[in-house]
Amino acid sequence: DYGLSEADPEVRAIIDKEKERQFRSLELIASENFTSRAVMEAVGSCLTNKYSEGLPGKRYYGGNEYIDELETLCQKRALAAFHLDETNWGVNVQPLSGSPANFEVYTAILKPHDRIMGLDLPHGGHLSHGFMTPKRRVSGTSIYFESMPYRLDESTGLVDYDMLEKTAILFRPKLIIAGASAYPRDFDYPRMRKIADSVGAFLMMDMAHISGLVAASVVADPFEYCDIVTTTTHKSLRGPRGGMIFFRKDPVLGVDLESAINNAVFPGLQGGPHNHTIGGLAVCLKHAQSLEFKAYQNKVVSNCRALASRLLELGYKLVSGGSDNHLVLVDLRPMGIDGARAEKILDMASITLNKNSVPGDKSALVPGGIRIGSPAMTTRGFTEKEFKLIADFIHEGVQLTIDAKRSVSGSKLQDFLNFVASPDFPLRDKVSD
Ligand code: PLP
Repeated sequence: DYGLSEADPEVRAIIDKEKERQFRSLELIASENFTSRAVMEAVGSCLTNKYSEGLPGKRYYGGNEYIDELETLCQKRALAAFHLDETNWGVNVQPLSGSPANFEVYTAILKPHDRIMGLDLPHGGHLSHGFMTPKRRVSGTSIYFESMPYRLDESTGLVDYDMLEKTAILFRPKLIIAGASAYPRDFDYPRMRKIADSVGAFLMMDMAHISGLVAASVVADPFEYCDIVTTTTHKSLRGPRGGMIFFRKDPVLGVDLESAINNAVFPGLQGGPHNHTIGGLAVCLKHAQSLEFKAYQNKVVSNCRALASRLLELGYKLVSGGSDNHLVLVDLRPMGIDGARAEKILDMASITLNKNSVPGDKSALVPGGIRIGSPAMTTRGFTEKEFKLIADFIHEGVQLTIDAKRSVSGSKLQDFLNFVASPDFPLRDKVSD
């Protein structure tokens, strides 16, 4: 039995290159993070060998006494991490990721072609919330369910709740989805609850991006108002790649969410759970209850604010004018460039972020904005000072994009990137294979 270097040097070399890239770059993709060595140890363990279809105590395979112990521990930690009481809330920790978790909820509580309303993708929503174009139903959600997205008020960059309410009264959705991939503000859960109640709809929050912030209570708590809360586990939460679905234990609109959701996960859409991921998730959820984690999430938010305020000082237009969470959305159109070009140029300078649609955009392929997130570099120990510098470097990159003749080498940006890549850079051990 060989280690990876001996068994497969080719894959080893690719992993080494990716590790080097992760060290070298300023990782600003809002949905990414560096998980801990402890989480990665669990994910790389023998737990991957085991089949355990079913739930703890009710499995379709033998030999599951330790897997049962693990999944039960993970469920308990998930509820504790989000301050939930076991009598009112349950959780399924088996979803393979965020999109499957969402689809599992839809198939649990809806019939094919029932109506849903989620935030439109070009306005910050996620594909799995029902995105479609005038020509094509793009995601499974919009193929199997009838989707009428709600949008932002383009003048404020905030969700247009009045329009959501008016549309919901006409469209009569069975499910309203809160949550986003590129929305720098909190959702107004009390308002959404009222709208959902007025039309007899379920209210679900997909807190994938902000679940770490929710666990640390640095943003509003969706559990107070929602019937179902889904999440990925690998973004601000800093866990392994995976998903979770939280549900109220009491029936909602006559539906027993616990059995409907558990059955939708297995046997509805999945087979054997990824026990190695559940192991890593349990480790992450223990950490999520610590004071250190709360301090980290506070820094994620204050770093993001520092970044936003420096960008504003530099004259940038931010969607909604700032940020209350871990990301900012910069509208580059007033600078005369697009997000796609800025992403490319910044990537060449090892600044990793993504192009993003901003309200009013005509094209999704060449969108007018970039999305910048603070979780990953906060994990690597960056403070507000470095986040202000990041804004300066992005500015330098944007200027380079505008004036493509200027060379990157010899710039302040290059000096700083050399430092980030050097062994002196703090918290290098946070990224390990
Ligand atoms: N939900 C939201 C709000 C997301 O931003 C994402 C991914 O970025 C997902 C769901 C999907 O997660 P996954 O890529 O794990 O399927």
